[in-house]
Amino acid sequence: MADVKKSKTNVAARQEAKSATQLCRFCGKKVEVVMTLTSSGRKQMLRRCCGAVV
Ligand SMILES: [Zn+2]
Repeated sequence: MADVKKSKTNVAARQEAKSATQLCRFCGKKVEVVMTLTSSGRKQMLRRCCGAVV
């Protein structure tokens, strides 16, 4: 497909964006990452700060 090259770069860009979004959207500090289990037993990463999930 013609989108293969594009999506590869998008993955890299997305990972960069992911690591850049570890800051709280309210106070701008590093957020606390907590692992929780969903009701269906799956692991879930939650970023918490300022008393909310950010
Ligand atoms: Zn915060």
